[in-house]
Amino acid sequence: MTLPKSEHRKLSIYNSLTKEKELFTPLVPEFVGMYVCGPTVYNYVHLGNCRTFLSFDLIYRYLKHLGYKVRYVRNITDAGHLENDADSGEDRIAKKARIEAIEPMEVVQRYTVDFHEIMSAFNALPPDIEPTATGHIIEQIQIIEKILGAGYAYEKNGSVYFDVIKFNEDQQYGKLSGRKIEDMIANTRELAAQSEKKNPQDFALWKKAEPQHIMRWPSPWGDGFPGWHLECTAMSTKYLGETFDIHGGGMDLKFPHHECEIAQAEACNKTTPVRYWMHANMLTLNGKKMAKSTGNNILPRELFSGNNAIMSQPIRPAVAKFFMYQAHYRSILDFSDQAILASEKGYQRLMEAMNKLESIEDSDSSDYAIGPWVDSCYAAMNDDFNSPILIAQLFEAAKWINNLSEGGAKITLDDLVLLRTTMCGLVYDVLGLPKEMEGQNNGQQQLDAAVNLLIDLRNQARANKDFATSDAIRDRLQEAGIQLKDGKEGTSFSLR
Ligand SMILES: [Zn+2]
Repeated sequence: MTLPKSEHRKLSIYNSLTKEKELFTPLVPEFVGMYVCGPTVYNYVHLGNCRTFLSFDLIYRYLKHLGYKVRYVRNITDAGHLENDADSGEDRIAKKARIEAIEPMEVVQRYTVDFHEIMSAFNALPPDIEPTATGHIIEQIQIIEKILGAGYAYEKNGSVYFDVIKFNEDQQYGKLSGRKIEDMIANTRELAAQSEKKNPQDFALWKKAEPQHIMRWPSPWGDGFPGWHLECTAMSTKYLGETFDIHGGGMDLKFPHHECEIAQAEACNKTTPVRYWMHANMLTLNGKKMAKSTGNNILPRELFSGNNAIMSQPIRPAVAKFFMYQAHYRSILDFSDQAILASEKGYQRLMEAMNKLESIEDSDSSDYAIGPWVDSCYAAMNDDFNSPILIAQLFEAAKWINNLSEGGAKITLDDLVLLRTTMCGLVYDVLGLPKEMEGQNNGQQQLDAAVNLLIDLRNQARANKDFATSDAIRDRLQEAGIQLKDGKEGTSFSLR
C-alpha cells in the first residue's frame, strides 16, 4: 500500500472535551491508541449501535490509511451493566438468562456471535484487542483498591462507591458533559435515606451480590460484581496506558459512563486518561428515535433480508453503510426507505465507475486536474473525518471516469495511476466498501452465457430430431437446479 503524501497527514479531530477541532498529534509519534466502548451483549445489536461502530471503523481505517500503527481496543460488556445506568435494577445479562432459562454465558456467547457476524457483514475490521469485563475482574479490583487508597471511594455493606463530592473538591467532575455538580445536586430526586450512597451522584465501583445473583466474584469486600464504568478504565489502562490518544463511543455514553471513566482514571492514576474524546451521533428511523417498545425499530438482519415492515426491499450491508457515511458521524442521521433507495442509486453509480476504471486507457494529455482533486479528498477526511464531502468528491471522479470510458475525455498515464490508487484506497480501504459488484455481475453473466449455449445446442438437436440429446440437456440441467421454460419468445431458464 502506498502511503498518502505527508501534506495529506494533517488530521483535525473534534474533541468532545474541548469542543474544538484540534490538530491530531499522537502521544507517541506514528502510534495511535484508540479505545471504543463496545456492546453490552444481552440482545441483538441495534442498527443505531452499528452506526457508532461503523463510524469508528471509518476512523480506524483512515488512521491506518495515513500510515499510523493503530492499536484499536473495543470491549465486550458481559457483566456489570445494570438495567438502569444509575446503578439500579437487574444486571442486563443476568436478566436475559433468567427469562430464557439459560446460563448468562450462553446469553453472552449468542449475542457476541451475532455482533461479530453483523460487523463482518458490514465489512468492518475487527479491533486489535477485544477484551471482556469478566476477563478483567482482578484488574478492576486493583483499581478499586487504588481509588479507596486515594480516599475517593468508600465501602458500605459489601459494596464500594465512588465519592463524587470528595473528588469534585480536588478535581473537576462533569467536564466532559458540561454538567455542574451543584446543578446535579439541585436536580436530584433520589432520597438519600433509601440508598447506601453518601450522595445520590456517587456511583458503584463494586456491588455486593445478593444470594440469587448468579454472576459473582470474590473480592476483598465479599462476593460481588464490578460497576459498569469500571471495566473501561481497567481495560483501556491495561492495553493502552494511563494516558492514550482516542476514546470513542456513542453520544449517549458521554454521561454518566465517560464522565465516570474520567473520574475513576484521575482518582486512580492522577492523570487525565484521554487526549481526544470522540462521540458518534445517533440514528433515527423515519424521523423518530428507534425504540423496540414503539415498534419503530429495525435489526440489521431484518434490514438485509427484507423481512421487516419498514423498508420496501432488502438492503445490502454495503449500501446501508454507504448511506451512513453520506452523513458526518457527529450529525444525527435519519434512516428511511426513500433516503436509502436514493443512496443505493449513488452506490451503484460509484461501483460501476470503479469497474470501468480498470479498463480506461491513457492518452498524451489530461482533461481533468487529478492532483488538486486528490488534495480535496484528503482535505475532507482530514477535517474531522468528513465522509459526506469525500463521497461528493468520489461522485465527481465517477463522472470523469464515465466520460473517459466513453472516449469523451483524455487522461495521461501518471494521472490515471494517481486516480486509480486514490479511488481504490479511499473506496476499498477507507470506506471499506467491498469489491462485490463486478464479481457478482460476472458470475451471473457467465451463468447466462453457459446456459444459453446449452439452450442453443438443445434447439439444434431438436431441429435435427435428435430428441435423446435435447431431452438429456433439459434433464441434466434440471438435476443441476436449472429449469428450462419453452415459450413463444423462445426458451428461458430459472434457478430452482
Ligand atoms: Zn465504556
